[in-house]
Amino acid sequence: MSNIVSSVFDYVDTSPYRIVLILVYIMVLIVAAEIFAYLWHRWAHTVYSGPIHNTHQVHHTNEEDVADNDFGWIVLLLLFITGGLGLLWWVGVPQFWCLITGLTAIIVLTVNWYVHRSYHCPDSYLRQYSWFQRWTLDHYVHHSNPEKHYGIVSCWGDRLGGTWSLCEGKRDETEERLI
Ligand SMILES: [Zn+2]
Ligand SMILES: [Zn+2]
Repeated sequence: MSNIVSSVFDYVDTSPYRIVLILVYIMVLIVAAEIFAYLWHRWAHTVYSGPIHNTHQVHHTNEEDVADNDFGWIVLLLLFITGGLGLLWWVGVPQFWCLITGLTAIIVLTVNWYVHRSYHCPDSYLRQYSWFQRWTLDHYVHHSNPEKHYGIVSCWGDRLGGTWSLCEGKRDETEERLI
């Protein structure tokens, strides 16, 4: 543990070049994690994902469901990521980069789960914000048409994968569900 902490401080007290490198790496990781989350959700809609598909269908068929089952999958996913990072560390990747990678993955996946849960909680404090109301409408497009809008926090994956759509008819329909 003390090795990890000293490794982190070695990098914090370093040149602007390395700081920029770290920030760029984190941004690339966030984009990669968002694309991964998109693919994971899309995969959850295929029968090939087995139990992930079954639990996700509960979320799509039960209006009261707030996707807490998905949290179980995220915990498993994080354990898997931790194992992968352990492997990277074992083959010689510096601890600092393993730490940054793990923390970013944990934050992005946890934010995805929390934001998704908030979309389905009428008393979420986030509902007071107009940006969140827009995001919620975009998510309900997915519930109206499960072949669209797999992204929870961003639409990058949907735009790349051709699953993004914003037709006004669907907006009206989803707005009714929110009222
Ligand atoms: Zn949902
Ligand atoms: Zn879904």
